[in-house]
Amino acid sequence: MRKHIVAGNWKMNLLAQEAETLSNAIVAYIKQNQIEENTEVILAPPAIYLKELAEATEPFAKLNIAAQNCHQAASGAFTGELSAPMLSNIGVDYVIIGHSERRLYFQESNEVLRQKILSALSNDLQPIFCCGEDEAIRDQDQHEDFIAQQLKESLFDLEASEIAQCVIAYEPIWAIGTGKTASSEQAQKMHHFIRSLIAKQYGNDLANSMTILYGGSCKPSNAKELFSQPDVDGGLIGGASLSADQFIPIIESF
Ligand code: PEP
Repeated sequence: MRKHIVAGNWKMNLLAQEAETLSNAIVAYIKQNQIEENTEVILAPPAIYLKELAEATEPFAKLNIAAQNCHQAASGAFTGELSAPMLSNIGVDYVIIGHSERRLYFQESNEVLRQKILSALSNDLQPIFCCGEDEAIRDQDQHEDFIAQQLKESLFDLEASEIAQCVIAYEPIWAIGTGKTASSEQAQKMHHFIRSLIAKQYGNDLANSMTILYGGSCKPSNAKELFSQPDVDGGLIGGASLSADQFIPIIESF
């Protein structure tokens, strides 16, 4: 059975005290509750909180930490950046790569993302690779071709053993932070399409073992229906991950 994941992307939010209150609430929940066998919770805080959170969550196998980005180089003169070896060295488990905000505001291309994925993998970090189309592309019915191109250019050069370490997050840009969620049918259709592309490239067994998350205005009221789709293996959650009262019911949606 493939892994279910609920991942919270805090983006550039929460002051230290707020981050501590939220992470304490999630840790307390994980301590006190039996999480399903194949389910994992991931927190992606701002980089400044990573080390503390990696240490606080270390005892809990089902609670892991993700960085929101990494640079493609291992070290060097890249002021303001963080490398995959640095993240791995402080106990970070995952790294989000290719979030639409990184693509849009920091001009990250499919090629740069390909390099970031390689750097993550060679440093024992599991990439959570984000893909997704904007509204204009969907309106033109080009969304499948667009996603296929993103996967081809950033992921499909990987060896089977490497792609097996990746998590994919389908995040339609028109649904991120807008309150507009993809319907469960739209999400299932795209997740199935993504899985079929992986199957074509790497075979059915690998495709069926890969976790594909949905992201875009996922909240307690719609998580259950989205997660009940056969190809939706959980969610990458933005806004609703900033409050334990919202995030915990999403974890409980499986
Ligand atoms: C995201 O940015 O990854 C995301 C899914 O955001 P939101 O849940 O706020 O739409």
